[in-house]
Amino acid sequence: MGVRTLELNGSFWAVAATFTAWFFFFFCYHGMGITLGYHRLLTHKSLKVPNWLMYLIVSGGYFCLMGGPVNWVAVHRLHHQKSDLPGDPHSPRDGFWHSLVLWMFTMDEKQSADELRKQVPDLLKNPVLCWFGIDHCAEQAQLCLAICVLFRCLLYIIFGPVCFLANLLATFVVFWSPQLVNAVCHLQTAGYRLFDTRDDSRNVWYVALLSHGEGWHNNHHAMPKSARHGMAWWEYDAT
Ligand SMILES: [Zn+2]
Ligand SMILES: [Zn+2]
Repeated sequence: MGVRTLELNGSFWAVAATFTAWFFFFFCYHGMGITLGYHRLLTHKSLKVPNWLMYLIVSGGYFCLMGGPVNWVAVHRLHHQKSDLPGDPHSPRDGFWHSLVLWMFTMDEKQSADELRKQVPDLLKNPVLCWFGIDHCAEQAQLCLAICVLFRCLLYIIFGPVCFLANLLATFVVFWSPQLVNAVCHLQTAGYRLFDTRDDSRNVWYVALLSHGEGWHNNHHAMPKSARHGMAWWEYDAT
């Protein structure tokens, strides 16, 4: 009986360790896909990497239900131009829930296909990125959802249920991290500011931890092209 309990305990901890390792891997893969790929590489051109590496990094964001990279970049560039003013796609001044999640369902009203294309002349030259969608139609979101489901089916078949479940948890955490940046990091009651920018952007430590450094959002609005978002010594920026 004692040996059996030890064996069960041993296999529990082995599964827990495997789950944790997979979770951390996907937390970084999907997280970097958004922060480094979609945001700092594609939107702001904060750094340069070879194309093959850019695709590898960006894939982490696409497989985390971020939709087509061209669309994402167009929305985020609009956010920087109109931060917390009329026309900002996701300002908490229009309501917390709007800035957290509801804005996604009204983007086709806020940014027409023509306006979207004007935001991203650089990315329109890239047919691979454009293939995933260049407007806010439902089809591009459905394509992303279908590819994300297929990706997870393959994970389950190739690596098994522990990997699959760790990926689901990591996807959940990473999916919400940029939404928290949009909502919490523009709330006047959260965090603090190092720079007197014209918007409501804030630095919020727990969002920064969850989002690989994106929560130092007031710094980012002050210096959008900086590859580094953490400025003070305590502002850890994993990306
Ligand atoms: Zn912002
Ligand atoms: Zn930005």
